[in-house]
Amino acid sequence: MNSRYEVVIGLEVHVQLTTRSKIFCGCSTAFGQLPNSQTCPVCLGLPGALPVLNRQVVEYAIKAGLATNSQIAPRSIFARKNYFYPDLPKGYQISQFELPICEHGWLDIETRDLGRKRVGITRIHMEEDAGKLLHNDSYSSAVDLNRACTPLLEVVSEPDMRSADEAIAYLKQLHQIVVYLGVCDGNMEEGSFRCDANVSIRPWGQETLGTRAELKNLNSFRFIKQAIEYEVERQIDVIEDGGEVVQETRLYDADNGITRSMRGKEEAHDYRYFPDPDLLPLQVSDTWIDEVRSRLPELPAAKLQRYQEEFGLPEYDAGVLSADRAVAEYFEAVVSLFEQPKTCSNWVMGEILGALKEKNLTIDQCPVTPELLAGILKRIDDNTISGKIAKTVFEEIWITGKNADQIIDEKGLKQVTDSGAIESIVADVIAANPDQVAEYRGGKEKLMGFFVGQVMQASKGKANPGMANQLLKKKLSE
Ligand code: ADP
Ligand code: MG
Ligand code: ZN
Repeated sequence: MNSRYEVVIGLEVHVQLTTRSKIFCGCSTAFGQLPNSQTCPVCLGLPGALPVLNRQVVEYAIKAGLATNSQIAPRSIFARKNYFYPDLPKGYQISQFELPICEHGWLDIETRDLGRKRVGITRIHMEEDAGKLLHNDSYSSAVDLNRACTPLLEVVSEPDMRSADEAIAYLKQLHQIVVYLGVCDGNMEEGSFRCDANVSIRPWGQETLGTRAELKNLNSFRFIKQAIEYEVERQIDVIEDGGEVVQETRLYDADNGITRSMRGKEEAHDYRYFPDPDLLPLQVSDTWIDEVRSRLPELPAAKLQRYQEEFGLPEYDAGVLSADRAVAEYFEAVVSLFEQPKTCSNWVMGEILGALKEKNLTIDQCPVTPELLAGILKRIDDNTISGKIAKTVFEEIWITGKNADQIIDEKGLKQVTDSGAIESIVADVIAANPDQVAEYRGGKEKLMGFFVGQVMQASKGKANPGMANQLLKKKLSE
């Protein structure tokens, strides 16, 4: 990277909302249905059809606004954004322009060089999605309007990010928040969370922004990072060669890892925005906002902090456990049943997440419920089983769905804490390994591990390791 230039990035994110029906009609938003099977006069754009605003969309916008520290406008306006494209039957998209529903938000991200840094959110507005073109061959295309009128939030950031890594940190946080809120399914491949990255460079110290290129077609965090990094290098080359960056839209070509010019960038006035006369100004009362606020879930950043403060977890654990809402809820359920947070964290991050990953399952599909897991932890805690046997019990629970006590009983896994029984095993082990006994007595104390291992093996893992250790020490020093 050329250190003579500062990188400036602003992001526009389209968040597809998970409402069951579309933003201005009652048609279903379900994905993957027969083309045009989910359409009506409104979303087909037939003349005279009138849009009716979906209240749930407004509620989701308020949620997203509150979660991003935005101000919710008491009055906002829907506007027509006019342009022609075959996937847009009305010839305009209903969006918001001058008075969007949310403004002046922010998110704090962690950066490598500066620590915590605040990224401004200029606005969040509601709009409808367009349809989808299906290109049959070089002579004909078909249009599927199932997606037309699907509700979107567009979240526009300030040009506050200074590297691809900062952009990714911001996006990941925004992604986490909308998924936590349940307003978006977060699926980037299916386009539920899409990002356009505006990238420019300027010589260090220059106040005014350089000319930006807008990058599109970025459907994974990895591609976003690659596209930004490529684009920065490209702009540096253009300027170093004495040229000028032109304001344009560029498409990311993931196969070749490059960005290509797609079209010159439109200016807002090209769209001839004007208030949509078919929709009344939207009024949002304080009561409504307060009511939505009272139902907001605890957000990941707050959980991250609380897990460290209330549960005394390391930041790493707190980060892993709070990243996904379902995992966080699972973990909290375990802690409520077995109040040793670090032990719970170790098991959730280790056994549970490990097994889920291996079997490609989500936590909602986990056969070991929080109750079942807490059942194991209690039996380790009261010395019924050792930590090692607990792993076996865990695997059995996973397969059978039985609880820890049942499995310990049926399989006879109860830890041997009867000192007489352990003593006799210890005596056998000592008798069977005269050479090692001699070496140990000659000063090679490291061999204790070997003896404990032998006792555990002879007892099929059921001897209490602490007791085995103690008894071995005693016998070996006799
Ligand atoms: P448009 O629809 O024309 O792209 P928006 O206002 O919706 O305009 O979005 C502009 C985005 O580009 C914002 O995220 C903003 O922060 C960012 N941006 C504006 N100017 C620059 C610049 N010079 N360099 C990088 N990002 C920029
Ligand atoms: Mg844009
Ligand atoms: Zn419809």
